[in-house]
Amino acid sequence: MKQVLAEIITIGDELLIGQVVDTNSAWLGQNLNPAGVEIKQITSVSDNREHILEAIEAARKRADIILLTGGLGPTRDDITKDTLADYFGVGLKVDETALAHVRQLFTRLNRPMLDINEQQALIPENCTPIYNDRGTAPGMWFEDKGQIIVSLPGVPYEMKNMVSTFVIPRLKEHFQMPVIRHRTLLTSGIGESYLSKKIETIELGLPAHIRLAYLPNFSTVRLRFTGRGSNSDQLDKELEDIVELVKKEIGIFLAADSDGSLQEIIGKRLIELNASVSTAESCTGGYIAHLITSISGSSRYFQGSIVSYANEVKESTLGVSAHHLEKFGAVSEEVVTEMAEGVRNKIGTTYSMATSGIAGPDGGTEEKPVGTVWIAVSGPNGTLAKCHHLHGGREQIIERSAFLALDMLRRYLPEAE
Ligand code: ATP
Repeated sequence: MKQVLAEIITIGDELLIGQVVDTNSAWLGQNLNPAGVEIKQITSVSDNREHILEAIEAARKRADIILLTGGLGPTRDDITKDTLADYFGVGLKVDETALAHVRQLFTRLNRPMLDINEQQALIPENCTPIYNDRGTAPGMWFEDKGQIIVSLPGVPYEMKNMVSTFVIPRLKEHFQMPVIRHRTLLTSGIGESYLSKKIETIELGLPAHIRLAYLPNFSTVRLRFTGRGSNSDQLDKELEDIVELVKKEIGIFLAADSDGSLQEIIGKRLIELNASVSTAESCTGGYIAHLITSISGSSRYFQGSIVSYANEVKESTLGVSAHHLEKFGAVSEEVVTEMAEGVRNKIGTTYSMATSGIAGPDGGTEEKPVGTVWIAVSGPNGTLAKCHHLHGGREQIIERSAFLALDMLRRYLPEAE
């Protein structure tokens, strides 16, 4: 089945200087792709007529659909509408519905309407207006030589509504869309290259219409299988069969049969187990707690954390033995074990995690160089501790340690009944 290709052009100087991050493109990709549209390129250009025109021309050589966002406002720097009218060689006309909408909005706000606001109801003669329930600037839908060109406001809240209610339904009427399906597995505790070796035979045997992407992020790698076809049931079945083979091959390294983060997966498991967790953090300084609490609803299983950076706090708050601190040092199996057990008792949780390590750049010794990190998990079946030798700067060591601790807990947790 023929692919339907789209390109996105986001307009605005603020995007190019990094003042505003281009979230519109990401959202458009996330929402158009499941509808069957392949995004081939994303381009950001300045509020400059020539640059906008060049970007449109280039995109039209490659894509069936061109989506523009930004530059539709009432101010002088908003030039998209005039540029498009010139591009198509047409004038502007007043759209009465858009005008009534802008007037109504100003009446409701009890504000006088300025000339520049009236001008928002002007649209190029050859376009179909896309009404904007959430703002003043209408969007524009152009059809030209079999291609669709859509211009939308930059404000994400306005743009999203117009895409969901108008653009996607209309694109579906206009094109016969292929079926595109993504299926993602979350793996953790195994590097990208080892993972690819493990599933090499399966990957080499994939049919041409199913592709595999590796998406690494700290101690996790997401495997995304993307299938294209015309029959959704058949495609789902093919993807399912491949995913089952992969799952068998990766075994313990499979963190989740979904596209989530490690902390989300752990959260779900803890809820299923009706269990709770706490952390005792030295080198990670509360970062594990931060990752856990960044998930909404984590109060159902996360009780708290003790950031025991100083030895005195390890001793006084967690009950770590002074003798062990003296004899083995804070970065040791004995101390991290006592930290995990101490916080579990103190806060009273089913499970706990603890970290103690040297994040650097100072503080390393020959015996314990920078990157030496002990991690422990504790629970009803006892306490496990493991030493890691991590590379990278301070930030990477802290982040890696946190994800390794989460992965250690993931493996420790029993399967829910
Ligand atoms: P309006 O009609 O409301 O003025 P507009 O089409 O003129 O909208 P812009 O002036 O280009 O839109 O942008 C308005 C605001 O929308 C920007 O200040 C920015 O915060 C946000 N914005 C613009 N483009 C993007 C983008 N690509 N991703 C995320 N936010 C964006």
